Amino acid sequence: MQKHLPNITEPIMKWFEMNKRELPWRNDREPYHVWISEIMLQQTRIEAVKKYYVHFMQALPDIKSLSVVPEDQLLKLWEGLGYYSRARNLKKAAEMIMFQYNGEFPHSYEQLLTLPGIGEYTAGAIASICFNEKVTAVDGNVLRVTARILGSKKNVLLTETKKEAVQLLLEKMPPQSGTFNEALMELGELICLPNGIPLCGNCPLKENCIACKEHLTSEIPVREKKLKRRKEQKSVFLIVSHNKMAIEKRPSKGLLSGMYQLPNIEGFHTENELYHILKDWNVTPEEIAFIKETKHIFTHIDWYMKGYRVTVNQQYDRFLWVSPEELSEQYALPTAFQLFLNDSQ
Ligand code: SF4
Repeated sequence: MQKHLPNITEPIMKWFEMNKRELPWRNDREPYHVWISEIMLQQTRIEAVKKYYVHFMQALPDIKSLSVVPEDQLLKLWEGLGYYSRARNLKKAAEMIMFQYNGEFPHSYEQLLTLPGIGEYTAGAIASICFNEKVTAVDGNVLRVTARILGSKKNVLLTETKKEAVQLLLEKMPPQSGTFNEALMELGELICLPNGIPLCGNCPLKENCIACKEHLTSEIPVREKKLKRRKEQKSVFLIVSHNKMAIEKRPSKGLLSGMYQLPNIEGFHTENELYHILKDWNVTPEEIAFIKETKHIFTHIDWYMKGYRVTVNQQYDRFLWVSPEELSEQYALPTAFQLFLNDSQ
C-alpha cells in the first residue's frame, strides 16, 4: 500500500451525517446495544437483524438479564441466527461483566478483548463508538474501501495488509473515532459495494480514489485464500532388471498428467508388506533395498516419499523398461521420481 491515505476524513464524516441509516441500535451509544447488534450482524444482513435485535432487547434489556437467562431461552431468542456458540459467548461475557466489572461494561479496547466472543473488530467498534477510544474497527467492508482508495492489490486476507490499513486509518482518525469507523462501514455497505459494482458516482471519496480513477474496482480488493496443503505418503519402487528400469505412464488427467513415473503406491509400508504388494502385481523381487526418504513440494500437495530399489530377474509386461539413456532422452520423468535415480547405484 502507499504510505498515506489521501484526505478522506472530512468528506466521509459529512457524507455519513447526511446519509446514515436509522437503525434501532443507533438510537444511543450504549455499549450493550452496540455489542449485541455487532455480534448479530456478524452472520446476518442488517434488515434481518433488526427484528431479532428488537425482540432480544425486549426479552433481555440489559447485561444483568443476559447474565442470568436460562440457556434454553437464550437459544430460542437466537433461533434462526445460527452459530449458537456466539449466543453462549454473549452470556459468558455478561457473567464476566457482572462479576469482574461490577456490572459495568469495560471501557477500553484491551479489556473488551478479554471478554468471550469479542475479537478485534467488535472491541474496536464498542471502544470507539461508545467510549471514543482512538481505535479502528476494520472488517471486510472497511478493508475493501481502504484498498480501493489506495489502489492496492495486496491480499486483504493477510494479517499484514490489515495491520497496514489500521495504521493508515489511525493517521486520518478524527477525535470522533466511533463516527469515523461507522462512516467507513456504512460507505462499504451502501456505496463501495463488493464484486466490482461500487456506486462511485455517489461516493464522497471519488476524487481521491485510485481504484475509481483507474477503473480497477473489479480487481480490488484482492482476496486470495491460502490453498490448504495436502500431505501424501508414497512408497516408490526403482525396479531394475539388468541395465533397464521399470517406468509407467501417469493418468491423462490430474497432477503430472501424461508424464512417466516410477511405480509407486500410497502410504509407507514394512519391507514384508512391500514384498507382498509386489507379489500382487505378479512381480517377484530378488532383493528390496531402501534407497532414501525424501519430500517433494507441489503447489498444494506435499509428497513424503520412501524409495526402494527392487531387483528382479525378468522384465515384466506391466511396465515399460528403459535404459538410463533412453529415459533421459525420451521420457519425461518428474523431479519427484528423479530424486531416487542418483542414489540407487
Ligand atoms: S470511489 Fe468508488 S471505489 Fe472508491 S471508495 Fe468510493 S465507491 Fe469505493
